[in-house]
Amino acid sequence: MVVGAGIAGARTVLELRAQGFDGRVTLLGAEGVAPYDRPPLSKHLLDRPAPAWLSDELGADALAAADDVRLGSPAAGLAVDDGGVRVGTADGEVAADAVVVATGSAAVRPAAWEGALTLHTAADAERLRAALGFPHGLAPGDGPAGDAPAPRRLVVVGAGWVGAEVATVAAAAGVDVTVVEARRAPLMTALGAEVGALTAPWFARAGVRLRTGVRVAAVEPGAVRLGDGAVLPADAVLAAVGARPATGWLAGALPLAPDGSVLVDEHHAPVGGSWRVRVVGDAARRRSARHGWVPGGHWDAALRGPAVAVAGLLGREAVESDLAPYVFSTQLGHELALYGLPGEDDEVALRGDPAGDDGWTALWFAPGGGAAGTLTAVFAVDRPRDVGGARRLLAGAALPVLDRARATDPAIALPKALAG
Ligand SMILES: Cc1cc2nc3c(=O)[nH]c(=O)nc-3n(C[C@H](O)[C@H](O)[C@H](O)COP(=O)(O)OP(=O)(O)OC[C@H]3O[C@@H](n4cnc5c(N)ncnc54)[C@H](O)[C@@H]3O)c2cc1C
Repeated sequence: MVVGAGIAGARTVLELRAQGFDGRVTLLGAEGVAPYDRPPLSKHLLDRPAPAWLSDELGADALAAADDVRLGSPAAGLAVDDGGVRVGTADGEVAADAVVVATGSAAVRPAAWEGALTLHTAADAERLRAALGFPHGLAPGDGPAGDAPAPRRLVVVGAGWVGAEVATVAAAAGVDVTVVEARRAPLMTALGAEVGALTAPWFARAGVRLRTGVRVAAVEPGAVRLGDGAVLPADAVLAAVGARPATGWLAGALPLAPDGSVLVDEHHAPVGGSWRVRVVGDAARRRSARHGWVPGGHWDAALRGPAVAVAGLLGREAVESDLAPYVFSTQLGHELALYGLPGEDDEVALRGDPAGDDGWTALWFAPGGGAAGTLTAVFAVDRPRDVGGARRLLAGAALPVLDRARATDPAIALPKALAG
């Protein structure tokens, strides 16, 4: 049985069949719609209003590959014993020999911010479009140069990946956008303060106001009140303050980490759990020999992890089991890719000039070392060749050791900077 009909769930069903499983497959979903892709919800909020169906994106239909599909039947509980697994739903229990948990994550919205929207589902995207005055998306000619509706004011709370992406497309369509970030730099959770701060100038160039280092005190009807007393008028407020694993239904059945994730080993089996359970995608925090515990929130892991999980479940050898964490984003006029996991105490080195026009890349090295350093992560800005280099470097059994001088020379291909 597969619980969760997002990308990790759809890929799990397809992998079960691709790897030769011919038993019965049940797929439970919570949204009542066929699996679709989430990254376009923000990047193409206005220019692609219909969901990007995964049957098209993946070229295979997970619903057709399953025997029993219940898209509007959220799992409410799990029981595991020697005889199998049982998942409780409002329509009764579903039993199987094994379960793959793929319930992903849910957007966080602080309880007092009732007037704020979030963006995690296709239904959320529909509400946000309507609030911005584009209920059917952008029609040709809409936008700053066209016959646009009166500009609306959007306040985005949180300068993370999703907040910046929505700010980009909304501002391009003529919406008056302010992004408020409590920390002192955008993308600070993912990149740390030093590298995150290098992205701050992009906001103004994209026509977006950015306020960092200030907290939201209240979301009120028609306005956002900040901790410093400022009041920002708003026709729409988007809370883009992160997501949390959607694992409440597993309480009591599996141990959950403080952030709600399930700790899994390299094969997606819960640490200390039954062989009958696997957890994939955003719900899992995966152990990696190279990177330690890798949290969810990575589309690529949700896409590729299921092949590893299914191989383990079926007793096969996985081809590639320690995937490097990888996040991509298109925002504020830039193509971004983050490979690996920057550590809080890592040393940052730059490759290329953030003030120039040719793109640049940040490298993180584990503390210590001299002329050679252990590379932990790579953040490439408009540098597709460095994305390919990072992918190759972070595919080995251990973190690569680079000659720092060569690694920071943008004229030298990253893999050619390997030390020794
Ligand atoms: C707007 C947006 C933009 C993004 N952009 C990027 C990007 O550019 N790059 C990137 O790397 N990542 C991006 N992500 C993150 C990426 O989409 C996720 O990492 C990925 O979707 C995780 O897939 P998943 O299948 O684990 O979870 P989800 O996509 O969350 O799917 C889980 C599914 O399970 C269902 N479900 C939940 N609870 C239950 C239950 N109890 N029973 C049954 N079903 C349940 C949910 O309704 C959902 O359909 C973005 C996310 C969002 C929201």
